[in-house]
Amino acid sequence: MAASDERVPAGLDISRPNIARVYDYTLGGKDNFAIDRQVAELSHQVMPAEAGARGNRAFLRRVVRYLVTEAGIHQFIDIGSGLPTQGNVHEVAHAIEPSARVVYVDNDPMVLVHARAILGRTDATEVITADVRRPEEILSDPTVTGFLDFDRPIGLLLFAILHHVTDEEDPEGIARTLRDALPPGSYMALSHFHNPGGANPRYAAMAVEAEKVFSENLGTGRFRTRDEILAYFGDFGLVEPGLVPYHEWRPAFGDPQLPEAMHHLAVGGAARKK
Ligand code: SAM
Repeated sequence: MAASDERVPAGLDISRPNIARVYDYTLGGKDNFAIDRQVAELSHQVMPAEAGARGNRAFLRRVVRYLVTEAGIHQFIDIGSGLPTQGNVHEVAHAIEPSARVVYVDNDPMVLVHARAILGRTDATEVITADVRRPEEILSDPTVTGFLDFDRPIGLLLFAILHHVTDEEDPEGIARTLRDALPPGSYMALSHFHNPGGANPRYAAMAVEAEKVFSENLGTGRFRTRDEILAYFGDFGLVEPGLVPYHEWRPAFGDPQLPEAMHHLAVGGAARKK
């Protein structure tokens, strides 16, 4: 369908691709436009982006299940939450602990509109529009401070978001500010595009090519080294099995198989604040 044939909500710029909508298309969603689909298709030509996105969501679900059941986390802040999809954080958490609270944060106003439409059905979730590059504003937002109890452990989720923060925007400093605000016993979990470097030249080359496609079309999309990504956890203690490809993190029966490239092009982990 051409963009001109689609209904475009007022105020929405569909002349340029947008991260949330490209990702939505990659996950098989319907909240996207022709320009987003073109960029998604370009990314599919250089890496198995679709399998990667599904693997990322499966990993996210396992992390949330782990945090609720094994770590006793009953409140979450999900930054760069994306457009609502299947298996949203509150749905996974509520299946185990109906009183769990989730604040969704994204800088894309379309996420707010769509999330509100869905979240209207529950009073255990909130959603705000804010930018991870200004973490202080998220931490002092009255919705966040009023809804979450900062005297009890919190699960901070940074899934597929820090690779959309450029080196100049200081992702390490952003992660530190967020970590510092969490009470003891909290967890930080994240997923991130990965460049395996000299350990695997074939996939390092693929990472460079994919980074080029994302950067040229979306402005961001960094494939970082393991050490760069590890730094985001600071002195938090990584839970087993550490920072690994998605499929290695506490695999669950029925999760999607990952193509070999995605064993090298993305990693994730969860860590606890002492
Ligand atoms: N976290 C979800 C997941 O892993 O399935 C969605 C990831 S999606 C690839 C990245 C999301 O981060 C998009 O919804 C995008 O709008 C959002 N995002 C990108 N840059 C952001 C920023 N500076 N601040 C807040 N959100 C941002």
